[in-house]
Amino acid sequence: MIDFELSEEQKALIDTARRFTKERIIPVAAQCDRDARFPMDVFQGAWEIGLVNCTCPAEYGGAALGELENAMMTEELAYGCSGIQTSILANTLALTPIKLAGTEEQKKKYLGMLTSEPVMVSYATTEPGAGSDVAGLTTRFTQHGDDYVLNGQKCWITNASYARWYVIFATSDPALRHKGIAAFIVDRDLPGVRPGKKEDKLGQRASDTAVLHLDDVKVPKENLLAPSGAGFKLAMETFNQTRPDIAASAAGVMRRALDESVAYAKERKTFGVPIGQHQLVQAMIADMGIKLEATRLLYQKAAYNLDHGVRDATVSAYAKCFGADSAMQTTIDAVQIFGGNGYVKEYPVEKLMRDAKVLQIYEGTSQIQRLVIARNLLA
Ligand SMILES: Cc1cc2nc3c(=O)[nH]c(=O)nc-3n(C[C@H](O)[C@H](O)[C@H](O)COP(=O)(O)OP(=O)(O)OC[C@H]3O[C@@H](n4cnc5c(N)ncnc54)[C@H](O)[C@@H]3O)c2cc1C
Repeated sequence: MIDFELSEEQKALIDTARRFTKERIIPVAAQCDRDARFPMDVFQGAWEIGLVNCTCPAEYGGAALGELENAMMTEELAYGCSGIQTSILANTLALTPIKLAGTEEQKKKYLGMLTSEPVMVSYATTEPGAGSDVAGLTTRFTQHGDDYVLNGQKCWITNASYARWYVIFATSDPALRHKGIAAFIVDRDLPGVRPGKKEDKLGQRASDTAVLHLDDVKVPKENLLAPSGAGFKLAMETFNQTRPDIAASAAGVMRRALDESVAYAKERKTFGVPIGQHQLVQAMIADMGIKLEATRLLYQKAAYNLDHGVRDATVSAYAKCFGADSAMQTTIDAVQIFGGNGYVKEYPVEKLMRDAKVLQIYEGTSQIQRLVIARNLLA
């Protein structure tokens, strides 16, 4: 049976997130974008009303929301600013591998930390020489007695400047590729952990993205999250769980682009009529609606699968790839509908276009999603 009716709880969650977006995110989004500044007070406000770490299990103080609810909430926040939303969601990216593979002690300590105070955390696979090719990472770990010592550099890490702890993927030997990768929970205050250069980005500028240096970082053995050989699988499983959220973010960006475009098309006149009466403008608006609705259905199905124990990486990849590519096209069209006004910061759509681009890049590029999809279809 298929049911598109939302439950009362889902409606209440969407309502809360929508109100928060309107009252707290939209008013600061343009300035945070200009200043490339993450609004910590917005993060704290979101945390206080339960919009951060939503999928954290109840045993550790979390709301234990399903992936579907988390994705729906993500769409709402992204409507206001996908940069601010990305930093909020990075906590979910970092807590997911602990939820999937952590020991009871790790969950109590590190998930408990997330629900007892508004801390930001990060997830780090990417390095200067290894992005799409996760198995090519070279951050090394060596065993010293019972403990581990980590050396290397991560880059493009969301929230790296502010994180209280990081999930770090490292290898015992780069030549082993995926077979050598392990995962660790690394506290920010350990000697040798040093957030570095903050990136000056095209879009999602409110979100912090930075380099992370790991120099002779001694990690206690109890912080091993996945042993050598199990880390790669954990990284892939984490992405499988979080990709529907990127599609949900894309839906939020598209919904905003559509709303802005419709309002503008009704008001702006050329040749004596509102531009919304020109069929070529109508076609762009119709395509926006189609892409938004299809993206929403895809992310909902991918998230529903996860909530019902159906492991389907193909649908997660469909959602991420289609959503990201659609958000890019939709925001390009929104700029087109605004004409010259679309090209200046006085209007909101140029930001949407800049923000959308990274949806095609992080958590697996659109090319990588197509490789995943094709590999599964041809298997
Ligand atoms: C704003 C931002 C936030 C991020 N946050 C995080 C984070 O929190 N944690 C984290 O670990 N990482 C993060 N990343 C990193 C992100 O996941 C990587 O940038 C992404 O996986 C791509 O890797 P790359 O940049 O090294 O590109 P590359 O892997 O060098 O790819 C370059 C181009 O080649 C294409 N390509 C590569 N291999 C193939 C192939 N086999 N077939 C076809 N095409 C291919 C890619 O699609 C891309 O177009 C973030 C990145 C950005 C920009």
